[in-house]
Amino acid sequence: MAAPQTPAQASKKALLSRVDLDGHALPPSPAPSSPHPGARRYALATELVYTDSKDQYGASSIPIYQSATFKQTSSSGGNEYDYTRSGNPTRTHLERHMAKIMNANRALAVGSGMGALDVITRLLKPGDEVITGDDLYGGTNRLLTYLKNNQGVIVHHVDSTNVDRVKEAITDKTAMVLLETPTNPLIKIVDIVSIARISHEANSKALVVVDNTMLSPMLLNPLDLGADIVYESGTKYLSGHHDIMAGIIACNNPELGDKMYFTINSTGCGLSPNDSFLLMRGVKTLAIRMERQQSNAQRIAEYLEEHGFKVRYPGLKSHPQYDLHWSMARGAGAVLSFETQDVALSERIVEAARLWGISVSFGCVNSLISMPCRMSHASIDAKTRQERQMPEDIIRLCVGIEDVEDLIDDLRNALIQAGAITFTIDDIHAKNVDGEESSSSAA
Ligand SMILES: *Cc1c(COP(=O)(O)O)cnc(C)c1O
Repeated sequence: MAAPQTPAQASKKALLSRVDLDGHALPPSPAPSSPHPGARRYALATELVYTDSKDQYGASSIPIYQSATFKQTSSSGGNEYDYTRSGNPTRTHLERHMAKIMNANRALAVGSGMGALDVITRLLKPGDEVITGDDLYGGTNRLLTYLKNNQGVIVHHVDSTNVDRVKEAITDKTAMVLLETPTNPLIKIVDIVSIARISHEANSKALVVVDNTMLSPMLLNPLDLGADIVYESGTKYLSGHHDIMAGIIACNNPELGDKMYFTINSTGCGLSPNDSFLLMRGVKTLAIRMERQQSNAQRIAEYLEEHGFKVRYPGLKSHPQYDLHWSMARGAGAVLSFETQDVALSERIVEAARLWGISVSFGCVNSLISMPCRMSHASIDAKTRQERQMPEDIIRLCVGIEDVEDLIDDLRNALIQAGAITFTIDDIHAKNVDGEESSSSAA
């Protein structure tokens, strides 16, 4: 009689036994949807567009498998897909693509960016400590406060732009160090490389988690800088059109990937087939969108700075952490903020803008303007906002792909109408003469 199979042999056999839609051999569902290291062959702009799915009809765009269940060929089941909560071909295709784009071994697609953080924070147990920044996305702050109040998780908010503050806070109970860079709306830069190193040195079990929503894999790969897990809101740059909610999680450690997949399969927060399709479509244009949004943002940041406003944007040499940002990232992104020193004035500017839609969020093809303290960050109470030195008058601009002259023109009109800059003869020139800048100055 043949020797019994070892588990490794058995799983190898299972792996060889099935060829999925994309031509990859996989064990039955639930199987890792992105089990291969994300070794990229081409430049990112190419990889974003290039997919090698082997659809049975050769469809150039992966079909939407709008089906909750999949028929099995034997009474004991075991086909690659059986139930969409556990796995769906459209979601799998997206997850493999994202793993490649994010230089990850495994990517997981869920219903929103906050859904992604929910899955990640379910790795925590009562008594675990989390170290995080003091200028967090409002929803992140809300979820961490919930975990603190209801799940016995201890949360330390420190100035994460100061590596020493993070180092001081690490203990043997630190289970997670959660970072965002640039922060929003204060556009503070966090040193992922140093924090990952000191965190792992001080506590080998601590997981360094990075929210990469602000830069996207186009501009930053936190896993390459020492992070254990990266997540992004797919609602923003990845999809690019503000027509879906989605979240992506990526990591290189297969065990971590399996643990998070377990939560997704248990709670049912995996991204729907239809939204997986839309995210897949959106992400193909990430490079061209981001390039345009970024160059527009640079021009607008320079325009505002020339007019005497305090502008926060890592594309400006005046940014106090300019060098740190560029040591990690390939671009400055397309979110910037500026201050007017007057809340009522800021409100008038935001309301006077026409091309710039008043909306929370960013990463969309059209440009948006908002007052974070009134909108996206309103869930952080006024006292905490003050403690974290968040200026109440701060205006956030999320720059889209429109013609940059139109964007500057609309902003100039809003600034004049609100009384933030004075109307001069140059403004008329700026409207009529191509490329000529207004010489009016901030009030
Ligand atoms: C929007 C956003 C999230 C949350 O993503 P949703 O898709 O809205 O749930 C998390 N982090 C940052 C930095 C964000 O901008």
